[in-house]
Amino acid sequence: MKANPAMMAAIEAPNLSFAWLEHGFGLRDSTPPPALTTVKQIHSARVLDACGRKGEQIGEGDAIISAEPGVAIAVRTADCVPILIADSRTRMIACVHAGWRGTAANIVGATIREMQSRGSRAEDLSVAIGPSIGSCCYEVGPDVAQHFQAWRPDATALDVRLDLPAINEAQLREAGVRQIWKSGECTYCRPDRFYSFRREKEQAGRMLSFVNRVA
Ligand SMILES: [Zn+2]
Repeated sequence: MKANPAMMAAIEAPNLSFAWLEHGFGLRDSTPPPALTTVKQIHSARVLDACGRKGEQIGEGDAIISAEPGVAIAVRTADCVPILIADSRTRMIACVHAGWRGTAANIVGATIREMQSRGSRAEDLSVAIGPSIGSCCYEVGPDVAQHFQAWRPDATALDVRLDLPAINEAQLREAGVRQIWKSGECTYCRPDRFYSFRREKEQAGRMLSFVNRVA
């Protein structure tokens, strides 16, 4: 089947436009590149190193780091927050799947720490926060809200609207990252562009967001 090229382009972040890097946040109709390295996502704060393994599922976790050229790493989302990271100095890359559990566990902060332990500096990192469910559509009950009291000092109401991209951005700033781009698009608001687990329930597909060091 020949795909329509107009429907294939994933969303690109302006702060990741390096000549040595390919990346994209998937749309419901975009075609991801072949041979992606992925993880079995378990809503944890577990970060795995791809260790050069191409096109494999490398284990259970919710973030992947890769230092080797030619290993395209990816996460799957439908409302959760996809995050892509590139180190402009060392060319190390990472991708993160941050739903509410991963965000409560600060998985993006754990990923930055892992990159720093491999020689990255926060000031060299460019981070792109992709489309996810927005605070416009993400009302949660006290069972979820209680995990975010540190990020939501006003969360005394029974129900609050969680802004997962904003919390991930705050966690990145806390880790010393300054070059941050946020898509701002809400997956629930745009059924024409995105799958949404909250909107489509079990029928929801998943968008693949990837990053690949090509040189
Ligand atoms: Zn929305």
